[in-house]
Amino acid sequence: MSTLTVTGLTVAVGGAEILRGIDLEVRSGEVHAVMGPNGAGKSTLGNALMGHPDFAVTGGSVTLDGTDLLALPTWERAARGLFLAPQYPVELPGVRALEVLAEAIAARRGGTEPDRVALGDRLAAEATEIGLAEEFIARSLNVDASGGEKKRLETLQLAVLEPVIAILDELDSGLDVDALRDVARRIERAARPGPAGPPPGRQPLGVLAITHYSRLLDELHPDRVHVLYEGRIVESGGPELAEELERTGYQHYGVDFAR
Ligand code: ADP
Ligand code: MG
Repeated sequence: MSTLTVTGLTVAVGGAEILRGIDLEVRSGEVHAVMGPNGAGKSTLGNALMGHPDFAVTGGSVTLDGTDLLALPTWERAARGLFLAPQYPVELPGVRALEVLAEAIAARRGGTEPDRVALGDRLAAEATEIGLAEEFIARSLNVDASGGEKKRLETLQLAVLEPVIAILDELDSGLDVDALRDVARRIERAARPGPAGPPPGRQPLGVLAITHYSRLLDELHPDRVHVLYEGRIVESGGPELAEELERTGYQHYGVDFAR
């Protein structure tokens, strides 16, 4: 079992302090949601955890099972099992999804290349489950893909990379109701393996799902919901908090803080 521990994390972007002391703990098999209005710092959190160079960590710590992730470059964080599905997936002309995944899997395994035929079969099966056309596997990653197709491609990568902790930044944006259900089910299968448990040697996925609508959370059932407002977690609770936010919005947090 693994634990991602974030303590007192402060992050500056372009010289401005955006995150002002974040504490979070995500364990294997847990689904946490981070909700908040536009500009609250949700993507900043995901990007900083993954080590994006534009996001300067100015204080606090981030560990995965005691290992200091902040001391590691992004690729090593990924090799240790941290995964980020970015809000805006990058297009890679000329680089096929299959190649990206073969290289990423090899890096995860300390350099051992996966069998390409077996990987192709696995990707095809996963694509079917997620409702993604198989042709995307052999195409340049995210090029000429719709918003929804990009989000399904992110889910496909998550499914085959089998990370330990996955950060999903607005995975629901651009997905229609059916696509949302397919994607959420696949993630839930990784996080909640069912009575038979996860396959031998694998632990259930820990999830940090960033979203500003509770729509995703109707399908991907969170254990904990955290409200991020102006760079701080101002409230945490159970799944009922997501429904409450849908009714109340976020503005009252501003009023509370002005008092
Ligand atoms: P959210 O994902 O919650 O909508 P973000 O984390 O994207 O919010 O943004 C938080 C704040 O940081 C915003 O004020 C935004 O303008 C700023 N910001 C985000 N990314 C950058 C960047 N690359 N350069 C400068 N400012 C940024
Ligand atoms: Mg964002």
